[in-house]
Amino acid sequence: MKKLNLVDYHMHTVRCGHAEGRMEEYAAQALEVGLREIGFSDHFPLLHIEDKTLAMGLEELPLYVGEVGEVRAKFPQLPIRLGIEVDYIPGYEDRLSSLLAEHPFDYIMGSLHFVDGWGFDDPRNLDGYEGRDLFQLWRRYFELLGDAAESGLFDVLAHPDLIKKFGFRPDADVTCLYRECLDRVAAAGVAVEVSTAGLRKPVGEIYPSEGFLRLCHDRGIAVTLGSDAHRPGEVGDRLEEALPLLRRVGYGEVAVFEARVRAYLALPEGG
Ligand SMILES: [Zn+2]
Ligand SMILES: [Zn+2]
Repeated sequence: MKKLNLVDYHMHTVRCGHAEGRMEEYAAQALEVGLREIGFSDHFPLLHIEDKTLAMGLEELPLYVGEVGEVRAKFPQLPIRLGIEVDYIPGYEDRLSSLLAEHPFDYIMGSLHFVDGWGFDDPRNLDGYEGRDLFQLWRRYFELLGDAAESGLFDVLAHPDLIKKFGFRPDADVTCLYRECLDRVAAAGVAVEVSTAGLRKPVGEIYPSEGFLRLCHDRGIAVTLGSDAHRPGEVGDRLEEALPLLRRVGYGEVAVFEARVRAYLALPEGG
């Protein structure tokens, strides 16, 4: 098997209620495919709703932090970072800030899985797309993404154009929405994730689109790389397909984090 020589900063654990496998298996798979560094980034407890199939409970957070420490101790040959994926829900910023400060995270990813209370990326909620004005939905999504960047809570914005997950897109050009959002992301100094998870979803594309990523590069926005693995076999999944995209757009490095300080790793040369 060809070694990836990349990083995967987006992996879940059974704590979130919809992933499978032991954390040791994720780490072993990372070594198997030749990753040079990984980060666990399980779903932070949802504060606005109760749903144990979407995220860990608040009481589980210290256990998750401990478990990342345990797997790290078992794989000294592999740098393993402590990350977390946090839903950005307006109005919960102060609570999130104090809860996040209780643990020594290496990086915090902000995500949008809800737009004004609707879990738009959950297949159980697909009926919410019926009759909806998609341009208004996308406008609101990218406005919230800008809000998330400006909240100061996050180092990285995960799967930044997740709103395309099911392939429902406005007919109108959305570049203006991207520009407005990314001006705010750049000013806030937050990175965005390039995620191969979209390749496994109905949309069948990497998050974000090439057009979006070009606008990121124009603004000097850093990128991280992740698979959003929910099972060991997905660790590093199709990251080699993100590499030509990153190169085409002009990126020669990806961001990595330790104790919330950003550094960069050069992307491997060649095909
Ligand atoms: Zn997510
Ligand atoms: Zn995720």
